[in-house]
Amino acid sequence: MRCRTRLCRDSRWPGYAAVGGGVVRQGLADKLTVRRQKYPLFHITMTLRIASCSCGQLSARVSGDPIRVSVCHCLACQRRTGSVFGAQARFPRQAVEINGTGTEYVRVGDEGGRTRFTFCPTCGATVYYVMDGREDSIAIPVGAFAESSFPAPTFSVYEDRMHSWITLPIDIEHMA
Ligand SMILES: [Zn+2]
Ligand SMILES: [Zn+2]
Repeated sequence: MRCRTRLCRDSRWPGYAAVGGGVVRQGLADKLTVRRQKYPLFHITMTLRIASCSCGQLSARVSGDPIRVSVCHCLACQRRTGSVFGAQARFPRQAVEINGTGTEYVRVGDEGGRTRFTFCPTCGATVYYVMDGREDSIAIPVGAFAESSFPAPTFSVYEDRMHSWITLPIDIEHMA
């Protein structure tokens, strides 16, 4: 989510409301949804991204920036991705539109939590997954966006499984 106006940079401002991925003065919010073009100071732009499997059959259209980007070094993520760690971005469920046919694989975690991974039955790439009990958000593998400028991870999980040669962003939060 990006808005170019100074007023919109901090969504924690009291008296402001979220509209179309940006933040505007509360009183303008309703008008802007209908007459946004009449308020040229409020150039609200929404980041749109498409995550896709390898063959393109299954995709996820995502609006706005992720609420969390993390890397996970656990062995299950290594096996799922075929890489040495998983990188994933979490989005609100309503910001994601799925297109195509997916097959589900349910993984049970160390503590019994279940995660539903949806992958393309043709090419096998995972395009999104949802954790049981957290259906209000969807995680999407960062690589599925094929976008080198995607926001960097801010959390690193399961570092006791981390490959020794990996270097992470200096300000990343380390979690067990
Ligand atoms: Zn595919
Ligand atoms: Zn993992």
